[in-house]
Amino acid sequence: MSDTLAISNSELIFALLLLTINKEKRMSIEHPHLAFEQHEQSLKDKVILVTGAGDGIGRQAALTFAECGAVVILLGKTVSKLESVYDEIVANGGLQPSIVPLDLKGATLQHYNGLADTIASEYGRLDGILFNASVLGNLCPFGQIKEEEFDDVMQVNLRSQFLMIKALLPVLSLSESASVVFTTSSVGRKGRSFWGTYAVSKFATEGMMQTLADEYRNSKKRFNCINPGATRTNMRAKAFPAEDKDTLKTPAQIMSTYVYLMADVSRGVNGESLDCQPK
Ligand code: NAP
Repeated sequence: MSDTLAISNSELIFALLLLTINKEKRMSIEHPHLAFEQHEQSLKDKVILVTGAGDGIGRQAALTFAECGAVVILLGKTVSKLESVYDEIVANGGLQPSIVPLDLKGATLQHYNGLADTIASEYGRLDGILFNASVLGNLCPFGQIKEEEFDDVMQVNLRSQFLMIKALLPVLSLSESASVVFTTSSVGRKGRSFWGTYAVSKFATEGMMQTLADEYRNSKKRFNCINPGATRTNMRAKAFPAEDKDTLKTPAQIMSTYVYLMADVSRGVNGESLDCQPK
């Protein structure tokens, strides 16, 4: 009797194993970005701007893009953090990056026009932008959102993207294949109580991406969103202070989707919103 049970247990384990393998296979067919294997030539000589490159996911994306052969333009608020990413890229043998210290809260179209001119004269084109920088703002009941805070979050998370894309479209047009990636969130697809301004800014980000993707659908430019999902960063810790962070993916573990969207392999992908951690 116990032997029979032992056999059926191992059969069960085998069946579960098969199910897992099939699930992995199915995931890689449904989500090719998850199966994408980056290497040192994946982004060879591409010129890519990363916002919020000093910390969290942006920091890792900058390092990974450089490992994949890109020249990375590091934009962010805290200069010391950008310098540390710069040093790490150079120490790893990556192409020399550039640093653009800029607080998105106070930046104007003039700053972004200056950035566009500098990129055009330094590199002759821009092949990619990762719009990654964001702030969470306060999580609170909608009626308690302060007007000034609403404006600040919208300025950093949304308006800066509008101004930057407006200024950088001409230099993106100089690329043979340009990829613009916006960062969204699950609360940018389905509203959630207390996530107030942050959620609204992410819905609007998805809208901006879709509008651009449709407008430029017959061009050499593509526009997509990426949803990193729960990832071990300061922002996540601020939103979920009681959470065990060891249960979360690290930024390094979600990079395949980032490189996939920047690489030429995703040339035909436009107007999509991809999940790094689909449920
Ligand atoms: P993070 O650790 O807080 O990093 C945010 C980055 O944005 C930092 O480099 C920060 O620079 C920069 N930044 C913030 N305000 C800025 C400003 N005014 N001017 C210039 N740069 C500014 O956040 P993260 O978790 O890596 O998030 C990255 C992106 O993923 C965000 O768009 C976020 O909404 C999205 N996301 C994250 C998660 C998650 O679980 N982590 C989930 C869904 C979506 P300083 O460090 O210099 O302030």
